[in-house]
Amino acid sequence: MSKNILIFDTTLRDGEQSPGASLTVKEKIIIAEQLSKLGVDVIEAGFPIASPGDFEAVKKIAQTIEGPVICGLARAIDKDIDCCWEAVKYAKKPRIHTFIATSSIHRDEKLRKSKEEVIADAVQAVKRAKSYCDDVEFSPEDAGRTSLEYMCDVVSAVIAAGATTINIPDTVGYTEPEEFGNRIKTLFDKVPEAKNVVISVHCHNDLGNAVANSLAAVRQGATQVECCVNGIGERAGNASLEEVVMNLKTRKDFFDADTNINTKELFKTSKLVSNLTGLSISRNKAIVGLNAFAHEAGIHQHGVLQSKATYEIMNAEDVGWSGENIVIGKHSGKHAVMALLEEEGYSLTSEQNTQVTEKVKDLADKNKSVERDDVLAIAMDILGQLSETEQRIKLEGFTVTTGNGMTPTASVKLLINDQEKIGTGVGDGPIDALSKAVWSIVDPSVKLLEYNLKAITGGTDALADVSIKLKDINGKVFSGRAVHEDVIRAGLLAIISGLNRYMNAYNKGN
Ligand SMILES: [Zn+2]
Repeated sequence: MSKNILIFDTTLRDGEQSPGASLTVKEKIIIAEQLSKLGVDVIEAGFPIASPGDFEAVKKIAQTIEGPVICGLARAIDKDIDCCWEAVKYAKKPRIHTFIATSSIHRDEKLRKSKEEVIADAVQAVKRAKSYCDDVEFSPEDAGRTSLEYMCDVVSAVIAAGATTINIPDTVGYTEPEEFGNRIKTLFDKVPEAKNVVISVHCHNDLGNAVANSLAAVRQGATQVECCVNGIGERAGNASLEEVVMNLKTRKDFFDADTNINTKELFKTSKLVSNLTGLSISRNKAIVGLNAFAHEAGIHQHGVLQSKATYEIMNAEDVGWSGENIVIGKHSGKHAVMALLEEEGYSLTSEQNTQVTEKVKDLADKNKSVERDDVLAIAMDILGQLSETEQRIKLEGFTVTTGNGMTPTASVKLLINDQEKIGTGVGDGPIDALSKAVWSIVDPSVKLLEYNLKAITGGTDALADVSIKLKDINGKVFSGRAVHEDVIRAGLLAIISGLNRYMNAYNKGN
């Protein structure tokens, strides 16, 4: 019988630590719901002690998501473990994942602790976690660079203390596939009790080896793989979930292993995560890139037309790949919009659905056609909207003039905490002039860090999707996003939404 490989998804924890990504609690719940549909075995929902927002997200996911084990991360410190339990305890199947660094470089430079002290801390952490819940995972951080002998000593000690899953991370993405596979093999040879627990791996992609290393470990007996949708994660990211899963499925003859993943949900999950994190997928990305199933070279097309098997090793349908773009017209009602959103993994409240439908109709009235991606952009815009009380700054009106041979000039009228203010500015372009006008009346210590503009679908009447990042003097980053058919208005609204988040964070009058 083929063995079952558990898929431990850490998109919401490690993935969320990707530079440039940040998710709201609402967005995290939507992703968790889709991960549950996808059939992952474990969702690592966050690092509860890291911030109140992280805690809230893990708690909400534990309370609402059914199916997978819900796991929280905790350093090997009492207060981390206590806090983690407070967040995951609501889950039907809670897990505490605790870790401490074991490599000499981390022990000496970061922890300044001896080998014995690190083992003692690890054992104490596992025991404390175990006092709360049966399902305890332990990771020796930077295991990839830890001496094999010492790593085995640590693993032995934490299994004796009650850990039920042992995760071997290649934290800095340093190892090579053969070497990492041998590490897992040695672990099973030197620590016989390892057979009685789940041996997991967590590989980073700094050298591009994350998937290959994870698969090499599976060949040597690991039965849990930690990964992220689209391979996102710290620095160069983690092993990509869809690549690990499709390797196991496509090469079952080689791995003799199964997963519980419904692969038909892969493409949709990938798109949802990309849309909500703002981290786009390159066209040539394996499995989920737009080119993955496109056969453009003439010779290939000829072959594919005669028999798909000539150049295709996987079926596009198996990963739920959809090339078509369903058109929504002005006569499409709420049900059509809801069905589309549901299909794409967006579960919205009835009120949010109505708001999306209204915007879609509004757009269809002005435009000829509204495509699937337009609807998704509108849904994301609605999801990110702030409540009435959170909108400390509201746009009342603006003008901007620009043209050949003249300096772009703008003025804005804003309601800031119900007080009307007017600002003016000149700049290198219309958006620059508008942002200067805004900054002439709001906190000038906040700086615009990033400005990204994306046209959703083709044509000059395309919806514009603008996402921005602001940075305050404390180095805190706030994101804003807006979707509008008027590209200038979208840019201005995105800046205002970022400023509102900044003001809410400090509870600012102005
Ligand atoms: Zn990691």
